[in-house]
Amino acid sequence: MDLNKTYKKKDSISEINFKDSYHESETIQRIIKISKNKKFLSDLSIAHQNILKRAITDLNSKDKKKKKDKFTLTNYAISEIDILPDIFVLKYVVHRYRYEIFPITKEIDEFPPYLQIEPTSICNYRCVFCFETDTTFTNKKNGFMGNMTHDLFKKIIDDAEGNVEFVTLASRGEPLACKDINQMLSYTNDKFISLKLNTNASLLNEDKCHAILSSGVRTLIFSADAADEKLYAKLRVNGKLDIVLKNIERFKNIKEKQYSNKKMITRVSGVKFSKEQNFDDMKNLWQGLVDQVAFVEYNPWENSYDKSHNEIAEPCSDLWRRMFIWWDGKANPCDVDYKSMLSTGTFHEKKLSELWQSESYNTLRESHLNQERQKITPCKSCYLV
Ligand code: SF4
Repeated sequence: MDLNKTYKKKDSISEINFKDSYHESETIQRIIKISKNKKFLSDLSIAHQNILKRAITDLNSKDKKKKKDKFTLTNYAISEIDILPDIFVLKYVVHRYRYEIFPITKEIDEFPPYLQIEPTSICNYRCVFCFETDTTFTNKKNGFMGNMTHDLFKKIIDDAEGNVEFVTLASRGEPLACKDINQMLSYTNDKFISLKLNTNASLLNEDKCHAILSSGVRTLIFSADAADEKLYAKLRVNGKLDIVLKNIERFKNIKEKQYSNKKMITRVSGVKFSKEQNFDDMKNLWQGLVDQVAFVEYNPWENSYDKSHNEIAEPCSDLWRRMFIWWDGKANPCDVDYKSMLSTGTFHEKKLSELWQSESYNTLRESHLNQERQKITPCKSCYLV
């Protein structure tokens, strides 16, 4: 492992959109046009109107010089804005700005830009690059395994609604393995501008297809990293590519026949882990079944606590970007720390805004700003900046 390597949070390292090409300038023109509509503007708080101004100034800027904190639209942002009606576009831009730029300018406001809610920590796979291979984590006796109750899920959603717009249902486990997932999905309907669900698709039966398609999910991400059965099974241990393919094909058919007006992006996203994986093969396999295919960079999640120290002093962007609430209500700044050594409290004691601005979270941020991440486990051996 290269000790000088750092891992920057970005959408993907390779990607393709089969549906449309990404059209940045048209999207910017659309945003500017909508921002002139007083009704849409007045839906934003004064603080968010100011963020929108910053975003539009950057989007309008002709300055070609690369400024670290200049807001631009990533390809994913363009495709996500594309499926939104005008009424949600300005809000999307504000929250995208908070998600992209606040981790650079080290700003926080009341709520995390991005919230990940974990329906379950249990997974039916043992992928080679995942912490689910750590038996000290998966051993039931150690207390890390469990399902969120529907009641807790509802409380978190109620607190997030209208405050956090970027939400993903997934973290350490396979969300579709949670027994209450259909009810949970139903509770998210019409509540968030950008709701994602990540799944390995192995448990995606007909019922779950309907639950997803009638929920508030706008982007459905299928985790898969290989285009042939042998390599897939080697990486996604316990997984079978033919089952996943059949399930995704069924999902597509149900969506086309019974939910033809539903605006939802589907993406296959794989972890680029080995040289054997080939992006062209992935494109060929998934074209026609999903809208997008991407590879994301591998970050060694599977041994967060055993890796040797690195020399990285740069603060971790995740501390200003996202917060996780796990199945038992624990709040955590990241899933690299999958055993929650950095936990900043629980949702049972504090609300989302209190957790995000808590003393313990701020102390962790301060340590990173003071270049002291080397004193913290597991930050001292993590590559994320
Ligand atoms: S372990 Fe520390 S440095 Fe790594 S992602 Fe988590 S908070 Fe950031």
